[in-house]
This record gives sequence, C-alpha cells and structure tokens, in this order.
Amino acid sequence: GIKLVTIGGGSSYTPELMEGFIKRYEELPIREIWLVDIEAGQDKLDIVGQMAQRMWDASPYDVKVHMTLDRREALQDADFVTTQFRVGLLDARIKDERIPLSYGMVGQETNGAGGILKAFRTIPVILDIVEDMKQLCPDAWLVNFTNPSGMVTDAVIRYGKWDKVIGLCNVPVNAMMAEPELIGKKPEELIYSFAGLNHFHWHRVHDVHGQDVTRDIIDKMYDGDSGIPANIHDMPFFQEQLQQMNLIPCGYHRYYYRAEEMLAHMLEEYRDPSVGTRAEQVKQTEAELFELYKDPNLDHKPEQLSKRGGAHYSDAACETIASIYANKNTHIVVSTKNNGAVPDLAPDDVVEVSAYIGATGAKPIAFGALAPAEKGWLQVMKNMELCVEEAAVTGDYGLALQAFIINPLIPSGETAKRVLDELLIAHKAYLPQF
Ligand code: NAD
Ligand code: MN
Repeated sequence: GIKLVTIGGGSSYTPELMEGFIKRYEELPIREIWLVDIEAGQDKLDIVGQMAQRMWDASPYDVKVHMTLDRREALQDADFVTTQFRVGLLDARIKDERIPLSYGMVGQETNGAGGILKAFRTIPVILDIVEDMKQLCPDAWLVNFTNPSGMVTDAVIRYGKWDKVIGLCNVPVNAMMAEPELIGKKPEELIYSFAGLNHFHWHRVHDVHGQDVTRDIIDKMYDGDSGIPANIHDMPFFQEQLQQMNLIPCGYHRYYYRAEEMLAHMLEEYRDPSVGTRAEQVKQTEAELFELYKDPNLDHKPEQLSKRGGAHYSDAACETIASIYANKNTHIVVSTKNNGAVPDLAPDDVVEVSAYIGATGAKPIAFGALAPAEKGWLQVMKNMELCVEEAAVTGDYGLALQAFIINPLIPSGETAKRVLDELLIAHKAYLPQF
C-alpha cells in the first residue's frame, strides 16, 4: 500500500483531495494518509482531518488518516508527498493584497508584489521540506500545489536539487473542462497543448483530425461563459488580440493584457468595505466550510467548496499521482523542467506545459517557438521569477528590488521600493532570510 503525506493538511481543500483518492482507489491503493500542519493550523487540521476520516469510513476502503504537527514523523518512508500549505495563512495573503493596493498597485495572491512576497515566504519552507525528504523518503515524489506553484517547483529543482517534483494548478483543468462545450465537443474529442508559466500560459486546441480549432473557441468565448477561475474578475480579452495570436491565454493574463481595467476593478473592491479583497472574501467562505466540516454526519465533499478558486484541485493532484504510480502516461498540464519543449526559455527553466505523466515523472510535449509578442512577455516573466527565487534563497535586498522593478504589474520608482519595504516589514516573522 501507498503512504501519502499532505503538508498543509488543514487546508479546506483536503476533502477535495480525499474525494479524488477515493474515486481512484482501485488504481491507486492508498494504505495511510498523513495530514501535516503547524500549531497555528491545529484547529483546522483537527476538523478537516476528522472529516477526511469520515469520508474514507463511508467508502468501501480501509484507509487510516493520521493528523500530526510532526512533519518528520509523517515523511518517514512516504511514497508521495503533496504540498498545499500557506505560510502565514490567509492573514498573510490579506497583507499581500492590501499593501500594494493601498499604493494603487495590483494586490493579488500570485501576481505583482503580493505574488513575489508569497514566494519569499514559501520557498525557504519548501526547501526545508526537501531536505527532510532527502533523509526520510529519498524515493518519494513531491507533488506541489503551493502557490506560486511555478516558482516553488522551479526552486525545488534549482536550489533543492530535487528532481522528483511536479507542480500543479487547476487552471488548465478548468479550461479543458469548460471550453469543449463552447464548440459542441466533449473533452475527449479535443487535443490540448499548453505552454508558458504557471498562471501565465497559453494554449491551442486541435480536433482529433488534427484541425486547429483554437479560433472557433476564441470566437465562442465572446458569447458566453469562458470557464475562468472564480478568483479572477471576468474582464474580457480584446478579441482582435486573441485572434491575432491564435492562442487562448489563461485567466491570469487579464492582469497583464487588461492591466488598466483589472487594477481599477481591484481598487474599487478594495475601497468598498462591503466587498473587500479576495482573501477577505475567501476567509468568509473558509469559515462557512469549516462550520460544515464540523458536522459529524457530513461524510462527502460539500458543494460549497466549489466557490473557492481551486475547484478541480483533486483532478490534477490525484490524476498525477495515479499516473506516476500506474505509469499511465496521461496528458496533464504541469510545472516541470522545460527540456526544450518551449524553445524560447532555457532547458532547465521550469515551465507549465502539456506533458505525459508516467513512472519517470513528466515528459513535456514540444510546443514550439512563440511569436514575438508572447515570447517577449514569457522571457520577462521567467527571468523575473528567477530573480524572485534567488532573492528568496539569499535574502538579497537588491535582487528583491530588481524583481519588483522588472515585474510588469509594479511601476518602477520610489513607490515600488516603499511597497517592498512595507511588505518586508509586514511579513518579517516569515522572512528570516531578509
Ligand atoms: P490555507 O490558508 O488553508 O493553508 C493551508 C494550511 O497550511 C493551513 O492549515 C496552515 O496552517 C498550513 N501551513 C502553513 N504553514 C505551514 C508549514 N510551514 N507547514 C505545514 N503547514 C503549514 O491555504 P489554502 O487556501 O488551503 O491553500 C493552500 C495552498 O494551496 C496555498 O499556497 C494556495 O495558494 C494553494 N492553492 C493552489 C492552487 C493552484 O491552482 N495551484 C489552487 C488553490 C490553492
Ligand atoms: Mn493555480
């Protein structure tokens, strides 16, 4: 049987994960699940851990859910380790959103100044986890969901020197589930090809005859729901721009392609105390979810969980693990080492790309060179990420400032430096490297 460890086990997403594993038990026979959290998450861990055990007890399978604050005890002889932790919990995310917004800049979980600070807090923790894994479970696979998922995965390989890692995000899953019906197709009737970075990728779509149907989807996107995540304001892209690129950008591209309107919308919500920032709204949703999880009769994932931005989380995570375990070579969009799939970036850069997932991990599928408009963005964004990662590891203030100055959502100048300084102070407790 398989020993599975989930770090950040107190997450409200854990029931989603359990549902995915229960659904796949026949191909992925799990023996024990260890949910790891920290003292600050103890209450959440207790509630969600008991809920997780009830879900298994209601299934035909005999699986024990362990809850612990002792990460090393959990990691001993693990086969798969998933990570879904949030350093500083939602209160830290609120600061990532409110501080940049208070200076008139995008304040968002994975983009702009807030995304950079989340990387600064998270990368040292993931590297500690990797050091533990080297000692306690050197053959295990690390499946990372912790945001910023692309940078975290890149840092695991580049600085942790740990190659058995796959980074995940539910955004590509959502696109592949929502788009086919726009053109009257089923998901299995279309071939998806993704390339770029986490929260900054594009995709194209073909039918089973090899016909490019990207343009058909683009045109339909302007008549209805495009399946963008619940956490992104659905400001449409310029239709002419999408037709020109003949690629479909991910939802987060809105922050870059419609920067003016997205910022205005965010500032409006931020200034309206009855709306608040996304993290403030999520806090409310989370409190409601935990109230439900406390119900000793609840033994399945409640519908309300889909209100969070991470719907279909389990489809990506559980399918990845099942595909490694059973060498299924399934197509999954993952963050992995480029190895030439995206020739506009270096072979050792982590990219988010269509890949076949099997016993040896991810085999990225060649996407080919991008046109200058997309290539320009991509190279700026990846190199910005590399500055962020190195600054996260070294605590080099000048490099942190460089990252702020390169980031397209942070206008360079005095204010950028002030936002950086204020964020470094606000998050001091989680930034020992600075
Ligand atoms: P959360 O605030 O509920 O945090 C999850 C748990 O992590 C908490 O119980 C917390 O106590 C714990 N934690 C914090 N620091 C820890 C540490 N050092 N070791 C172990 N546990 C620790 O977060 P959430 O909203 O459930 O999200 C979890 C993570 O997953 C976040 O990083 C979020 O951005 C990410 N996420 C990613 C995607 C994606 O598409 N990639 C989607 C949804 C969520
Ligand atoms: Mn994501």
